[in-house]
Amino acid sequence: MIRVNDNFSKLQESYLFSEIARKVKAFEAEHPEASIIRMGIGDVTLPICEASVKAMHKAVDEMGNRATFHGYGPEQGYAFLAECISKYDYAERGIAIATDEIFISDGAKSDTGNIGDILSTDNLVAVTDPVYPVYVDSNVMAGRAGTLTERGTWSNIMYMPCNAENGFIPALPAAIPDMIYLCYPNNPTGTTLTRSQLKAWVDYALENKALLLFDSAYEAFITEDDVPHSIYEIEGARRCAIEFRSFSKTAGFTGLRCGYTVVPKELIGYDSEGRPMMLNKLWNRRQCTKFNGASYVTQRAAEAIYTPEGRTQVREAIAYYLRNALILRSGLAAAGLEAVGGVNAPYVWVKTPRGMTSWEFFAKLLGECHIVGTPGVGFGPSGEGYFRLTAFNTYELTLEAVERIKNFRL
Ligand code: PLP
Repeated sequence: MIRVNDNFSKLQESYLFSEIARKVKAFEAEHPEASIIRMGIGDVTLPICEASVKAMHKAVDEMGNRATFHGYGPEQGYAFLAECISKYDYAERGIAIATDEIFISDGAKSDTGNIGDILSTDNLVAVTDPVYPVYVDSNVMAGRAGTLTERGTWSNIMYMPCNAENGFIPALPAAIPDMIYLCYPNNPTGTTLTRSQLKAWVDYALENKALLLFDSAYEAFITEDDVPHSIYEIEGARRCAIEFRSFSKTAGFTGLRCGYTVVPKELIGYDSEGRPMMLNKLWNRRQCTKFNGASYVTQRAAEAIYTPEGRTQVREAIAYYLRNALILRSGLAAAGLEAVGGVNAPYVWVKTPRGMTSWEFFAKLLGECHIVGTPGVGFGPSGEGYFRLTAFNTYELTLEAVERIKNFRL
């Protein structure tokens, strides 16, 4: 008899985006004339920059030629890309990250979801609430989550509420978790941690021997000086933090798939006998066993975003989305709605008016403005009463959405 992993039966149906899609479809069937503006799912809309497209054409030609063809590459990624990452994403900011601390992958979802492979299932996990659901569900699969409670939370996961009262900054937990997921700039709230706020987390992790799993998939959107681009800007972080990065939102690679994870050599965990183990070695072992590297063509595309043309083109695309975010922010304010985010992130986190629930606001926005967003409660109980809008639509449709919201009687 084939036994399955019982933890999978504990998982809830991925309700959020399928429920949104179902509701939008039903609305469209009833109102075929409505022109719906989609500001829900966090996918990019601009094409991949020209520098990367050119690099891919060249790489494809190499692959079609016996003399320049590439078969299996290094599981950790090609040196040409790791060197660019080390130089441009880190050394330029005064951070020393060696190329053998960089693990190139097919994206941050895989890495944030897989990192638990090298960590004990006995570890206590803490997440912010609201949260990117991958951190929670991957821990449910691994058996770290316990049982589902009536609130829709997991009995063995610590939730750190982020709400208007604490300025969307999670408080340092009194009970000590072993693994702490932090995502900044944040999905879904679009908020950030300043240097001193992040330092408090690094100090806490060092003091309590906890591991920070720092997801900076939205690093490219940072505009404010006091917001760190990397956790390694903070003294001591090499001893307590793994950093995840993605080219998805930075360079429109959501359909191409490339990201990377930094595991510094100072990071030590302990086995059940109390023996110290380098997490870098464990992650390397894990990747070599279960992953065969991102494709050569994709890594050449990623390398191209570090060229002078590539950097300019990527900056332009980010500026385009940030302009949308600003339009959203100011339009929502003009409509009398409170919102955060959108300054260092492509997400705007809106407080629903007059105490409406997230789903009530979803229905109202879809029904009256024909705009689709994401109910905040779908990201965790503290997201109730909030709503996420993304800046990834076109400039024209973002303007149109804001006009509709302004004309809509709340
Ligand atoms: N991390 C966060 C916080 C995200 O919001 C996303 C995508 O939406 C990812 C990771 C996934 O990134 P990737 O496309 O590199 O898998």
